[in-house]
Amino acid sequence: MNKDDSAGQDKPPWNYQPSIPIEGVPVFVWPPRPVAAIKYLLSRAYLFSVVIPFGLFALITWAYLQPAITRCATFEFSWIAQMYLRNLMLFVLIVGGLHLYFFAFKRQGKQLKFSGQAFGRDDRKYFARDQVRDNVFWSCVSGVTLWTAYEVFFMWSYANGLLPFYLDWREHPVWFVLILFAIPFFDSAHFYFIHRLLHWKPLYRVAHAVHHRNVSTGPWSGFSMHPLEHLIYLSNVLIHILFASHPIHIFFHLQWNAIGAGMSHTGYESLTVRGKPLIYLSPFHHQLHHRLYNCNYGNSLVPMDKLFGSDHDGTAEAWSAIRNGRRAKVAAV
Ligand SMILES: [Zn+2]
Ligand SMILES: [Zn+2]
Repeated sequence: MNKDDSAGQDKPPWNYQPSIPIEGVPVFVWPPRPVAAIKYLLSRAYLFSVVIPFGLFALITWAYLQPAITRCATFEFSWIAQMYLRNLMLFVLIVGGLHLYFFAFKRQGKQLKFSGQAFGRDDRKYFARDQVRDNVFWSCVSGVTLWTAYEVFFMWSYANGLLPFYLDWREHPVWFVLILFAIPFFDSAHFYFIHRLLHWKPLYRVAHAVHHRNVSTGPWSGFSMHPLEHLIYLSNVLIHILFASHPIHIFFHLQWNAIGAGMSHTGYESLTVRGKPLIYLSPFHHQLHHRLYNCNYGNSLVPMDKLFGSDHDGTAEAWSAIRNGRRAKVAAV
């Protein structure tokens, strides 16, 4: 392989790139930009693609699909199985639906699709030698199980009054909504730290390599992880032990982590209707991580990569910085 190509530019060129440099989210920036921050929080990319859809999923889950909390006081197969099947159904419906839409029926063609590469097939590195089957297996068998396990822990704790705080949304409607807006930002910072940890060689080999089998990503790739990674990745929900929350926050938090990962890996920037972007899905920032590995460990909501010097904003300078960094590493060995 040509040395100059060692930073990932040897891979097929992008089918689509957003405008470069990748624009950061103007919420955690210095100096503060309050007007831009509020505009972002109320934008198509955040309010209409994150808070409203995931708020509705969580609300529907609580109102219609959750066994009564009183039943959750003792561990029983029936209500736990009901929650697992509910989560599996939600996941397959949305993530599987996105796969059918983009990749089986090709409803959007290549419009706003980042990678031109096909999914891996007939390759021994994948379970059943097929990338999509491999991704479905890890997502549903390990992912949905551990997602459900965290929910079971919270429902059981609420049922037994073990968590001292329970937020009544009728008494604290503003706080209730603010938590929903804050969860993806908290997750962004948490994700940066655990993701760096997962790139520590022993953990990478044991766990994170399962997710990185996917160079060209699709909806099923996002939540395709080793069980150890699922356990670490979903641990951000434990923050709700520390302050008053409602089961809707727990559902929102975990659904955002699980289903949101599927959405952020579709490989399409947005879902379009009549050619116009409607729902924001996948950031280019994370596509670069799948191609290069050693940059963009976080996401754009909280600029952790900028803070810690691992940001790749898609510019030629960033490509050469990555390349030089790799050469320096090779030279040092
Ligand atoms: Zn990923
Ligand atoms: Zn990674």
